[in-house]
Amino acid sequence: MRRVYLDNNATTPVLPEVFEAMRPYFAEQFGNASSIHHHGQETRAAVERARESVAALLGCRSSEVVFTSGGTEGDNLAISGLARAGDHVISSTIEHHAVLNSCKHLESMGCEVTYVPVDGRGLIDPSDVKRALRPNTKLISIMLANNETGVLQSVTEIGKIASEADVYFHTDAVQAAGKIPIDVNKIGCDLLSISGHKAHAPQGIGALYVRKGTSLEPRLHGGTHERSRRAGTENVPGIVGLGKAAEFAMAGFERGDRDDDRNDDRNDRKMAAKRDRLERELLEIEATGLNGDGAARVPNTTNIYFDGIEGEALVIALDLKGLAVSTGAACSSGAIEPSHVLTAMGLRIDRAKASIRFSFGKQNSAEDVDFALRVIPETVARLRQLSPLWPGSAVVSVNARHKLGLSS
Ligand code: PLP
Repeated sequence: MRRVYLDNNATTPVLPEVFEAMRPYFAEQFGNASSIHHHGQETRAAVERARESVAALLGCRSSEVVFTSGGTEGDNLAISGLARAGDHVISSTIEHHAVLNSCKHLESMGCEVTYVPVDGRGLIDPSDVKRALRPNTKLISIMLANNETGVLQSVTEIGKIASEADVYFHTDAVQAAGKIPIDVNKIGCDLLSISGHKAHAPQGIGALYVRKGTSLEPRLHGGTHERSRRAGTENVPGIVGLGKAAEFAMAGFERGDRDDDRNDDRNDRKMAAKRDRLERELLEIEATGLNGDGAARVPNTTNIYFDGIEGEALVIALDLKGLAVSTGAACSSGAIEPSHVLTAMGLRIDRAKASIRFSFGKQNSAEDVDFALRVIPETVARLRQLSPLWPGSAVVSVNARHKLGLSS
């Protein structure tokens, strides 16, 4: 059975080049990077090379890169490592749970958190962030790209507001790293988290950019690894993989990844073109719409609602046909609650529940889009036939017709 994976915001496959770079560090070059003998020196050198590659991806110094176990740890270290009881923190309603639950934890520790709203496109108004500032505001944590819609926030403007107010600024760039160029100095952030497995490096590795002079309380207590910012023996193969994935992404940005300049299907312009074709053709199905319409987005993500359908049912039906997609954040798959991101954007509950995220990776081909476009319309039509919410189906209430705007 053919299987097509369009759920790359949940996780991506490790690129073959990344896997090859990692391979020696499992068995041949296995040293503990803290050991002073040959074996340790060898892996230390590999870790520091990878740190430079990640620093180049983010536009920072290598000494400002702290390797973590992933996005969740980076977000936790940034937020809980900075704020103390009595501090005020500003975040938003559409953050990933790694940030939202870190903020909840802060609230239980005696911090106050303001969650700024988004508009119908999923955009935060930077002036709302400015208005939320208080004399005791310590930190602003606003994401760069949303994991469900791909919508990009005006982080540079928010960075300016933070710097003028002398407040720390953290941005969760987990869904942006490797997809769009990032420059921490242009953004003006003090902290920025990324995760390997969202960018074709393995699961269980990530990095946090920590601007020089930012003093963070470590979350893990132990040795002096990572300049005493994150204790624990380094995950050398993971770090090497993250470094290689960063180099791969940088090479694409430097080439400009024009449609016509490479045969390699993995360039990002081509990825955006595939995403756009899928999006365009799916939006031709009646009673569908784009979540995040009108906002700038990362090139790999589209989030579409299909009125009259339960998103979970569509995910399962498509999976049975070989197409893997998602209703939103992977950690909420299987949950019945509608996405907090889509409801924060003002979507009706039934529309939020009828929304599907399609997210591309570098491995996806034009044939994958053809496949998706073969199976999605017919599956949507079949599920609508069975849906009491859909006008053409066997059971249609007047209420359902009204909800869909179809009653006269
Ligand atoms: N932040 C965002 C925006 C994410 O999409 C994710 C994962 O889905 C995370 C943080 C958590 O990253 P990790 O899975 O590496 O812990």
